[in-house]
Amino acid sequence: MAAIDDLPPLRDVIRTHGLSAQKSLGQNFLLDLNLTARIARGSGPLEGATVVEVGPGPGGLTRALLALGAKRVIAIERDHRCIAALNEIAAAYPGRLEIIEGDALKVDVRPLLAGAEARVVANLPYNVGTQLLVGWLTSDPWPPWFSSLTLMFQREVAERIVATPDDKAYGRLAVLTGWRAQARILFDVAPSAFVPPPKVTSSVVHVVPRANPAPCTLKDLERVTEAAFGQRRKMLRQSLKSLGVDTAALLAGADVAETARAEEIELSGFLALANTYADLKSKGGS
Ligand code: SAM
Repeated sequence: MAAIDDLPPLRDVIRTHGLSAQKSLGQNFLLDLNLTARIARGSGPLEGATVVEVGPGPGGLTRALLALGAKRVIAIERDHRCIAALNEIAAAYPGRLEIIEGDALKVDVRPLLAGAEARVVANLPYNVGTQLLVGWLTSDPWPPWFSSLTLMFQREVAERIVATPDDKAYGRLAVLTGWRAQARILFDVAPSAFVPPPKVTSSVVHVVPRANPAPCTLKDLERVTEAAFGQRRKMLRQSLKSLGVDTAALLAGADVAETARAEEIELSGFLALANTYADLKSKGGS
């Protein structure tokens, strides 16, 4: 296959810039530009797209995004050592790559986008991946500023994102994701694709926000799922007691069986529980 650009191989970039991987920054680099192109394409056609990339590192995914036609990539990288390598990519694609040196958990990209449609594509640092995803899924206002998220996670986390009732991985993350978005696993990536290789298999997940999620308050949904999954093997009439409202009224109001367990309840059941909980609270339940 022809090279995707005229820049040096990533192995050379890493050597030239002394980018030895640091565990504390969740650094597992992808050096195969065919693989990074596959991840980039997983986000949909890139021609003319605006992309926010978290953790570009030496720039393997960044290069794929640009080579495939993204008109603008905003890349947020915390490791100062990577900035010089990223500047070389910016020079090869004039006016298309903006590099922000900073912590993606703290950077607000919205002012930079000024309302333009954007998507997120990232090989995330594993230590902050879930936190970033939850931050994006709980964005306010909703619909959010991004049109999709295409993200690499450890396979086990990817399974928790897309799980449905009765899956072992079904829990709070799946309920939150299912409420606000539709998520699916695109493909797995073997440990050997990374330098250094992580211990576990990874998966690329594609998340598309729902334009109109069912009416529900995030805080109430979080309270209910926290209580329910906090004791996932117990019946809900027991586990929901910690909410401090009349549990029988709560379950009856939501049309959920008292003997059901959290792991069996569909998203619609959790939404009904959250809304009934809000009603009971406003009537003075707690
Ligand atoms: N995208 C590159 C690739 O695919 O080879 C690097 C991926 S590596 C798994 C994660 C990257 O995220 C590293 O470059 C790391 O320095 C960066 N990073 C870690 N924590 C970060 C944070 N809080 N904000 C921004 N970047 C971060």
